[in-house]
Amino acid sequence: MSTSLVDIRIRQREYLLAISRALTAELDLSDVLRIILQASVDFIAGRAGLVVLADPIEKKFRVAAALGIPSETFRRFPVLLQGVPYEEGAEQDALPQIDQRIHKLAEAVQIDLDLAQAILLPMQSGDALIGMIYVFQAESYVFSRDAPQLLQSFADQAAIAVRNARLYEQVIAEKQRLDAILEQSADGVMILDPQLNIKVFNQALSHMTGWPAQGAIGLSHNEVVRWLSLRTETDVVQAVQEGWPLPGSPPLYVEGEIRKCNGEKVSLGVTYAPVLNGRGRITDIIANVRDLTRYREEQELQKTFISVVSHELKTPVSIIKGYAGTMRRKDVTWPREVMDEYLGVIEEEADQLTDLIDNLLEASRLQAGTFKLDLSDEVCLYSLATNTAKKFMLQTPQHQFELDFPEMYPEIVADERRLNQVLNNLVSNAIKYTPDGGTIRLTGSFTPEYVTLSVKDEGIGIPTHERHRIFQKFSRLDNALSRKTEGTGLGLFLSKAIVEAHNGRIWFANNSETNENEPGTTFTFSIPRAAQ
Ligand code: ADP
Repeated sequence: MSTSLVDIRIRQREYLLAISRALTAELDLSDVLRIILQASVDFIAGRAGLVVLADPIEKKFRVAAALGIPSETFRRFPVLLQGVPYEEGAEQDALPQIDQRIHKLAEAVQIDLDLAQAILLPMQSGDALIGMIYVFQAESYVFSRDAPQLLQSFADQAAIAVRNARLYEQVIAEKQRLDAILEQSADGVMILDPQLNIKVFNQALSHMTGWPAQGAIGLSHNEVVRWLSLRTETDVVQAVQEGWPLPGSPPLYVEGEIRKCNGEKVSLGVTYAPVLNGRGRITDIIANVRDLTRYREEQELQKTFISVVSHELKTPVSIIKGYAGTMRRKDVTWPREVMDEYLGVIEEEADQLTDLIDNLLEASRLQAGTFKLDLSDEVCLYSLATNTAKKFMLQTPQHQFELDFPEMYPEIVADERRLNQVLNNLVSNAIKYTPDGGTIRLTGSFTPEYVTLSVKDEGIGIPTHERHRIFQKFSRLDNALSRKTEGTGLGLFLSKAIVEAHNGRIWFANNSETNENEPGTTFTFSIPRAAQ
């Protein structure tokens, strides 16, 4: 080997070392390409150089780096590359065309810049052509025989850099996609490390638990998911202590109730799936979390419904049976007044039964979508309120009724029987849930668009965390009173359906919201005055 060739080899090694340093220093791809191009040009004491890349995203060839090319010449390259056919997987086919065009340009510019010799260094990744490096020299320059071969090692390094950068971009894009899926998922998702510390915590889970992601990440699983009770045998901490997951074991399902940050309880169902590495060790645990609160409440409601309805049906039936049996006794002759009183009770209980059955039928009509309003002529809510108050006044001496309606309270076109049902429900609730007696105030008001009626009591009020259940079907709040008082939990559900069928709105507020020490609740509904 001649001394000059040894020199060249040493120089080549130095350049390659610099290039591999640039590759590992995680520089930007265009920086790495520029360094490689510089090395290639310097290596042959060249004048200029160019890197052309096949761009699989934009499906074209483009200049990715240039060196020593005056800007007016540089501007000609994109035009030059335009129209070169690009076919994914067959980029190689375009090479002769590009080569020919570049050579033509090199010859054309040699008048003011001697770039007549263009050395092509293809950048290959496997069989695929991912780009090419051109190094330009003056026509008079004599290359050593080994030069192209030695230069090719630079192009190989450039190919590695491009491939790495593309893989990196793909990984980043994939990660962004996964992050977006996780974040936007309607299910709660968290990722735990093998020590059960939280690494990822998505939006839906924040919503379910009340923990902001930033607060939960870094904490241990049990600091955030604090089980109040479990429906399954173990939780994830115990399962991991007992050796879960064994290879091939199914995901772990844990269900129970936790307390949210704001004190509310939520029922959660969590499926923990381990991610194992090649050696079978856990690297992550992915937990998929479902809010089962509504489902559990529905189940509870169904149970309550069955017990409440059977109780509500049984009570009047047994009273009727008892009174009828007493009246039929052959050994006693009942005076007329007693008979009248007993028959009165039977009639009242039969009415109760009819109301209950009507309510159940209305509920099932609503469910079946066959609920229709019977819009009678003008309905006067003031008269309905007066009649309702009169009726209930006779039944409950410990409650006083006050009516407060403006003069000229407008009439509306509405379903009279059903609005009466709404009023009955609201007033009978006001009585039931004000057990120690008090004033029940019925207030009317109106605007050009709406008539509004509210029923205010001085009763037990409605706890904030139960508010969302009030208008649900069969829902009765779990307090001693609702256990003692009769009711099916259908009244408000039906009232809401009736008001909404009139395009109206029904709502309630605890009186303490406007006046701190005032007990009780006010239910209000408003109905549009314009014909439905
Ligand atoms: P119910 O037949 O149980 O009265 P409703 O649908 O009319 O059914 O009411 C649902 C639940 O809402 C009741 O069980 C009760 O717990 C609560 N509730 C309704 N009205 C009032 C009120 N005025 N004050 C306090 N709680 C009420």
